[in-house]
Amino acid sequence: MEPATRVVHQHTPVMPNSRPISVPIYQASNFAFDDPDALADALNAPDQGFAYSRYANPTTRALEETVAALEGGTAAVATASGMGAICSALMGVLKTGDHVIAQSCLYGGTYAALDYLREHYGVEVSYLAGEDPAEVADAVRPTTRMLYLETITNPVTRVVDLPAFLDAGKQAGLLTVVDNTFATPLLCRPIEHGADVVVHSVTKYLGGHSDVTAGILVFADEQRYRHGWHHTMEMGAAIDPFAAWLTLRGIQTLALRMRQHCANAGRVAELLSAHPSVEAVHYPGRPTHPDHEVAKRVLADFGGVVTFDLAGGRDAGYRFTKGLRLVKLAASLGGVESMTLHPASTSHRQLDADALRAAGIGEGTIRLSVGIEHVDDIWADLSQALP
Ligand SMILES: *Cc1c(COP(=O)(O)O)cnc(C)c1O
Repeated sequence: MEPATRVVHQHTPVMPNSRPISVPIYQASNFAFDDPDALADALNAPDQGFAYSRYANPTTRALEETVAALEGGTAAVATASGMGAICSALMGVLKTGDHVIAQSCLYGGTYAALDYLREHYGVEVSYLAGEDPAEVADAVRPTTRMLYLETITNPVTRVVDLPAFLDAGKQAGLLTVVDNTFATPLLCRPIEHGADVVVHSVTKYLGGHSDVTAGILVFADEQRYRHGWHHTMEMGAAIDPFAAWLTLRGIQTLALRMRQHCANAGRVAELLSAHPSVEAVHYPGRPTHPDHEVAKRVLADFGGVVTFDLAGGRDAGYRFTKGLRLVKLAASLGGVESMTLHPASTSHRQLDADALRAAGIGEGTIRLSVGIEHVDDIWADLSQALP
């Protein structure tokens, strides 16, 4: 089945003569058994029934099956947040003395988690630019365990050559983990390129409506899934059934939403490129983007995030976000509504110009998560707020 069909037809329970069209919310923490052996089985393995919702829940399972199928994985484990999924992927595998090779422009929370593991648990981390797959072999040590990548990076939308980097990771015998939040399985399925584990902040495009905080881990193989399920369950990172249900509902329109996000983002990137107050536009769909050729090969479309640099620096960025009326000033992204962030005056306000530059962010850099509104209205608001 095509992804556009899979997102609509989710797995629903069989009843005596019929089945519900939508997945019900099983808002139950607990399930009663007649047979103690059956209860023990359900506590021992993820596919032996439902006993306790931190271990498994039917609504959560429907979400896990839907996303696993979309990503081309064997099975998935849904979590309470994207960071829950990422920390589970890291801590379920890494031991003191292990070495991780990660991309240098990671999501801030992931960078902080790796730093915490280094400081408290002696996990070593080195970072690569993500431009040449030979960087992987150069960084490998005898203790290297994992290669950690993001499909599209935040905020400057770099696109790594996923097949080549995953291949280099495989050659070195590494476990490969890819954060596919920005691309979604509609634009890229890292497991098809050889990834072992895919993680998502479901909070963003999969949920899609700015009403749920959740995450998910998708596993390419069964054994790693069983281990991942066990570890995630013991860490207590389980998603709430209602959050799982909201996500299932959001996912039904994922194909439609992504089509509109990408179309709008492409148009906004084009208009921004022609605007005199805009110094540079970072969007993988633009021929001027350094990874445009890679993006054409690796992604089915170029995503909904457009980042741009205002000529007037920090002050211009601050005034731009203050002047917006329709587009929301917000820390998150991936919702149906357009949202924007000026890192220099908000998320990265402690950093001076040099520290910002080291993080790949300019003083006038604006990250725009282009929503699914009519593009003329998005542009009308952006252009009235632009200097
Ligand atoms: C938001 C985000 C996360 C963290 O997800 P939460 O749901 O906020 O915990 C991880 N990776 C990427 C790429 C993100 O955008």
